[in-house]
Amino acid sequence: MKKLALGAIAALALALPAQAQTKYPERPITMIVPFAAGGPTDVIARLVSESMSKTLGTQVVVENVAGAGGTTGITRALTAAPDGYTIAMGHLGTFSAAPSTYPNLKYDPIDGMQAIGLAGGTPILIVAKKDFAPKDLKEFVAYVKGNTDKVTEAHAGVGSVSWTTCTLLKGQLGVPKLNSVAYRGTGPALNDLVSGQIDFMCDQIVSVSEQVKAGTIKAYAVASAERSPALPDVPTTKEAGLPEYQIEAWNGLAAPKGTPKEIVDKLVDALDKALKDETVKTRLLGLGAVIPSAEERTPAGFAALIKRDADKLTPVLSQAVKK
Ligand code: ASP
Repeated sequence: MKKLALGAIAALALALPAQAQTKYPERPITMIVPFAAGGPTDVIARLVSESMSKTLGTQVVVENVAGAGGTTGITRALTAAPDGYTIAMGHLGTFSAAPSTYPNLKYDPIDGMQAIGLAGGTPILIVAKKDFAPKDLKEFVAYVKGNTDKVTEAHAGVGSVSWTTCTLLKGQLGVPKLNSVAYRGTGPALNDLVSGQIDFMCDQIVSVSEQVKAGTIKAYAVASAERSPALPDVPTTKEAGLPEYQIEAWNGLAAPKGTPKEIVDKLVDALDKALKDETVKTRLLGLGAVIPSAEERTPAGFAALIKRDADKLTPVLSQAVKK
């Protein structure tokens, strides 16, 4: 009897640590992409989510919730229960630019969000429909300045990366107002660029590089210090005559604030493994993405990047929105 009781206590003691651990994940995880399918955020999300599904042993399902420059989808994700079953693939726009362009934003990427990690650096390209008259960046600058009433620009909504990066460009060119069309993501904007219905846009390399290579659109320059290995023929803005136009964008994962640490750790690990997965890596690099450093893949490293870029963008963008 005494023996049995001791045995039962021992069994209970063994079972306890297992019970104290969070069993996660037990069902599919939703990764919200705050833009339409086919754009850079969607492309990166689909690539990493596939590998993350394998690591986590459950499906990570991408859900496109577009609108308001990506803020609709991010609001949905960050106001969900902090249980690890809803996460978001945001970017420079939704996490660093949107707070200064939407005064009533319902989320706070600096103090009210759990950063997970950076999923990819995405150089910015100035791209145009293939028949657009200017042949190079210098001609583009002159043409835009001389035809402000005629030129049409595509973007993914106020606060998005395309809007933010083109707002900086237009500010530097001294042409703050152009005819611009807001899309639900730059995937659909790219379709209109390919069919020649819109003149140009500034966008993240990953969804436009293949079209540039195929010649269905043209790229004037990449706004980074170095050329992209994915598009070695496209000059940098410095080489092409607009050295002051330098901007780097990125995409990364976040969860609602309050998500338990053990769950965050599992998501961080799954993202890290996805970025080490040869298939994912090769595909991302082929599209022109930059693979994040070990530090940028951590919640602290990613949070620091969000803050650094928000500090940089806030003064410029709050002015631009007032104009
Ligand atoms: N690249 C987009 C932006 O301009 C959005 C998207 O990923 O579709 O913010």
